[in-house]
Amino acid sequence: MNISNSEALFKQARQLIPGGVNSPVRAFGSVGGTPRFIQKGQGAYIWDADGNRYIDYVLSWGPLVLGHAHPDVVAAIQRTAANGTSYGAPTELENQLAELVISMVPSIEMIRFVNSGTEACMSALRLARAYTGREKIIKFAGNYHGHADMMLVQAGSGVATFGLPDSPGVPAGTTENTLIAPYNDLDAVRSLFEANPDSIAAAIVEPIAANMGFVLPEQGYLQGLIDICHEHGALLILDEVMTGFRASTGGAQQAFNLDPDITCLGKVIGGGLPVGAYAGKRDIMQKVAPAGTMYQAGTLSGNPLAMAAGLATLTELRRVGVFDQIAGRTKQLTDGICHVMAEFEVPIQVGQVGAMFGFYFLKQPGAIIRDYASAKQYADTDRFAQFFHAMLEQGVYLAPSQFEAGFLSSAHTDEDIQFTLNAVRKALQQILS
Ligand SMILES: *Cc1c(COP(=O)(O)O)cnc(C)c1O
Repeated sequence: MNISNSEALFKQARQLIPGGVNSPVRAFGSVGGTPRFIQKGQGAYIWDADGNRYIDYVLSWGPLVLGHAHPDVVAAIQRTAANGTSYGAPTELENQLAELVISMVPSIEMIRFVNSGTEACMSALRLARAYTGREKIIKFAGNYHGHADMMLVQAGSGVATFGLPDSPGVPAGTTENTLIAPYNDLDAVRSLFEANPDSIAAAIVEPIAANMGFVLPEQGYLQGLIDICHEHGALLILDEVMTGFRASTGGAQQAFNLDPDITCLGKVIGGGLPVGAYAGKRDIMQKVAPAGTMYQAGTLSGNPLAMAAGLATLTELRRVGVFDQIAGRTKQLTDGICHVMAEFEVPIQVGQVGAMFGFYFLKQPGAIIRDYASAKQYADTDRFAQFFHAMLEQGVYLAPSQFEAGFLSSAHTDEDIQFTLNAVRKALQQILS
């Protein structure tokens, strides 16, 4: 595969932009090699700067649930842009998207739009603190909630420890109120509440831990979390930035029948444009300025192009049969992956919910990944890197890290799935030989 244009562009980019990219994982750091510079996308495919075509299972890291350049989304953006791109004043489009989201996501009564998932989580935490008058928060090791200072802590497996920052530049003071618990462990959460009486504002959790690979919540875990939080006067923030309109049309909360206090959204809600949102129960949301006293603002928040793209995306996604078809193909893909891996006796752990999926190559058969510690212990990142490149060479674009999820769109066809599964077979033949 000729990638000389990508190579030249990457070389140039590294002189201009730190590491050549505007978000670290794009640089292929954990799999090695040259990131492909993308020139265009159409439906399920992307083309790189050398004209190579790939079936895209990254889809901009989740947002493009209808695939690239869906005609309705493109038309909505064009129509809206012709009347100006931003006013810094309210528009009817914001009401329309708010109404649509409220009608689709069960727990949501009011919503505030922001510009990214990071902003959504950051604001949701401020809101939980403002609403409860408490300062501490619980996050789970290996869960990702964007890059706000107080969330840049993963900590080790130590329960009940105060978090230490993951990045230089994050003052220890900003994370001293961030308590860390392992995922899928309710006892650890109970201990944190006992050790910190009346001082924890909220726990924030990914309902499917899909930023450390793909770890499903164990039976009763999420409901247990909500119950423990409420017993102690704290809120539960469900970070559905990735699972929103992906785990089901009503997010993970609909798929798992949960009623969180606050929900964070992003990715799909913007249909490929920069949008995030935090949302939830009316009495909590009324605390947000100017209805209430918790300050949060944004020059481009509720941007008309982003609202139009989100509206067009969710309107199509909600049409009867559209989501089920994507979910069905996603299952077809993961079933197929399991089948082929078993044929080659390659131990893997596969997960799929709705239109999202993930899989780990396991270092030993029978290992079970249920939290961050076991993900780091058992995931075979070397084998993943080999597999990733073998797939890429055949024109299948997976996320360039073992610890990221995969996505499908309504544009992915049965033929695309079959092509991908054949590629999996060839990739295994190659890396096992
Ligand atoms: C992607 C993601 C974020 C951050 O969203 P950005 O738009 O990248 O800032 C937050 N939480 C979860 C669960 C995510 O997957």
